[in-house]
Amino acid sequence: MKVVVSDNMNPGALEKVKETGAEVIYKPDSLEDAVSDAEVLVVRSATKVTEGLLSKAPKLKAVIRGGVGLDNIDQDACRKRGVEVANTPGASTNAVAELALGLAIATSRNIQKAHLSMKEGKWEKKSLSGTELHGKTFGLIGCGRIGTLTGEKAHRLGMKVVGYNPPPRHVSSFMEYVELDELFRNADIISLHVPLNQNTEKMINTESISKMKEGVIIINTARGQIIDEDALYDACKSGKVRAAALDVYCEEPYKGKLLELDNVFFTPHIGAATQEAQLRIGEEIASKIRSLMD
Ligand code: NAD
Repeated sequence: MKVVVSDNMNPGALEKVKETGAEVIYKPDSLEDAVSDAEVLVVRSATKVTEGLLSKAPKLKAVIRGGVGLDNIDQDACRKRGVEVANTPGASTNAVAELALGLAIATSRNIQKAHLSMKEGKWEKKSLSGTELHGKTFGLIGCGRIGTLTGEKAHRLGMKVVGYNPPPRHVSSFMEYVELDELFRNADIISLHVPLNQNTEKMINTESISKMKEGVIIINTARGQIIDEDALYDACKSGKVRAAALDVYCEEPYKGKLLELDNVFFTPHIGAATQEAQLRIGEEIASKIRSLMD
């Protein structure tokens, strides 16, 4: 079986894919040429799987996305062509949950600012005073795999956890489901964990931000397009939003105007970038390839 891996892959994960015995072509110079006789295409988030690309791949049986979001794959076009679309849904859950919580702690305690200020030779003990997570309300928008695990970890740190997720939803002992407006009214920290779709695109906008608490913190490790970046810019500038920490952006690599602000903190889409998650992604891709070989 010929497998084309078109995006960057961790060496350990690539090894897991090779252990399947498939012929693996890694990051070919011409993707269109490479897929002409491929049966499986493995992508991360960079490759756009379009109708045009699929038309160059007559033998393709499956597109496997190493990661969760399928927004870079034209799923309708795959369906029409009879190409299966799979992802590795659970592999990065813990890595993203830990990042979301890490950003919540770092932002509440001004860790990023403190680091930068000391690098500039300053000792700003007073102005870097922050707030604690314990006793605060953590609002999760999207309570699937990552949202629920992030909520469980926040609960263990002594936070009250509220979540918004349309039914069907899993019931959990540590989280209370609320309506979105109630979450906006009460959450001290809001963490986004929804997929990108037409209902979630720009769901954080001027209107929804106006319903939030004065001084709320927003964490986005889901998808950039879920936030209207212009609205976030205005709200962070005015202080309505005390701080935001972003791992994902409307356009990546991000070069936009939020970088001007001192109360917005950035990571370059590293939610799943842990050794452990990358290996799990490799294992899940390999297992999918094995099932296609059977
Ligand atoms: P999931 O499918 O398990 O959970 C998503 C949840 O969102 C579901 O429970 C769904 O019902 C809910 N939902 C859908 N529409 C909603 C809406 N309008 N309002 C509220 N809830 C809604 O997915 P997951 O594995 O938890 O992943 C969540 C997000 O994390 C995805 O956007 C994914 O792309 C992103 N992600 C980012 C990284 C990263 O590197 N930063 C890595 C992995 C996943």
